[in-house]
Amino acid sequence: MKALLVLACVVLAALATPTKPSLRQAKVVRVVPQTLDQLHHLHQLLLQGRYDFWQEPRALDTPVDIMTTIRDLPELASSLKSHGLKATVMIQDVGRLIDQQAAERLQRDSRAMDWTDYHDYDTINAWMAQLASDHPDLCTLEEVGKSYEGRAMKLLTLGKGGADKPGIFIDGGIHAREWISPATVTYMVNELVTNSNTYDDLLSNVNFYVMPSINPDGYSYTFTDDRMWRKTRSHTDSPFGCKGADPNRNWDFHWNEIGASSNPCSETYAGSGPFSEVEMRVVRDEIIRLGSKIKVYLTFHSYSQLWMYPWGYTSALPDDWKDLDNLAQDAVSALTAVHGTQYEIGSSTNTIYAAAGGSDDWAKGVGGVKYAYTVELRDQGYYGFLLPPSKIIPSGEETFEALKVVANFVKNTYSK
Ligand SMILES: [Zn+2]
Repeated sequence: MKALLVLACVVLAALATPTKPSLRQAKVVRVVPQTLDQLHHLHQLLLQGRYDFWQEPRALDTPVDIMTTIRDLPELASSLKSHGLKATVMIQDVGRLIDQQAAERLQRDSRAMDWTDYHDYDTINAWMAQLASDHPDLCTLEEVGKSYEGRAMKLLTLGKGGADKPGIFIDGGIHAREWISPATVTYMVNELVTNSNTYDDLLSNVNFYVMPSINPDGYSYTFTDDRMWRKTRSHTDSPFGCKGADPNRNWDFHWNEIGASSNPCSETYAGSGPFSEVEMRVVRDEIIRLGSKIKVYLTFHSYSQLWMYPWGYTSALPDDWKDLDNLAQDAVSALTAVHGTQYEIGSSTNTIYAAAGGSDDWAKGVGGVKYAYTVELRDQGYYGFLLPPSKIIPSGEETFEALKVVANFVKNTYSK
């Protein structure tokens, strides 16, 4: 009976699940380039656009994760082998893992917001509306724009010290399939709001401006059609019907100079022009509107456990990199102290392949936010983008400790 029930759930999940047929038996393999030749070869494969790179080649001795369909596997294997690259399988069957997780989600049938599961865009928005109506002294929720497909984009502001207090701008979900990002961001918001007495001092001196899911169309698409979707869902002029741009290559700071693609079918398509994607214009306009009140910009991605600061477009460092590095060190120490999770800190300085058009580069280079960080959350590739929901709370707990360090720094440095 139980087996039958599980089977029924799997069938149901398959009906309601974003598993493309091509993902059946698809694998994620890992290689670690040790020579420049190997690194360049991986970069060439990336540019070809045939494989979905879960982790792009960036530097020597840094893992590269590649998802391949079962059909393309032999060719990928021989291509890697011809350059002496040894591949290990990280995920045996991507499609099966997606189905399993979707079946578990159906079984839980939890529509209400919580952190034992991942939730869709409407659920997150409804929860934010509820927070704002339950805690009018602490939260305000504004609609600040609409996505390409017309979804309302909302900015949640937390704080009780008044609009002039220094602020931290936090966004998540810029890449649709990185589900742990909106989950962790909303966890931290919930923590601040439900324990607002504990954090009274912080909330009286610092404002938190939060947009947990800034690629709503892409995020929604990962729930309905393709769990592995990364980009926005805008129309392109691709003759193959390819949709969307990489929203984190779309910002107007050294746009499309390096590490991005002009091919609309690529996962790193920079868009038809800087800020071609309406969702990124919406976020940009909020950062501009808040202006010098924003002291820190935090954008959450996954995966690989990195706390990074600009620049992404060049291996050069900003003049004040030491300041950014110091705060990152303090934040990461607090994070690691919770569950022992190891993060690396750094800029793209150690990487060979830079990527331009990222939101953190723009926040610092144009938006004038001194402390701009991109955080790559859990894990280090064991599940990759398919991090089980049981990891949301631990991820939230540790990341919140890092956020507290950052917020205390903002309070002590800027609040009068
Ligand atoms: Zn990302």
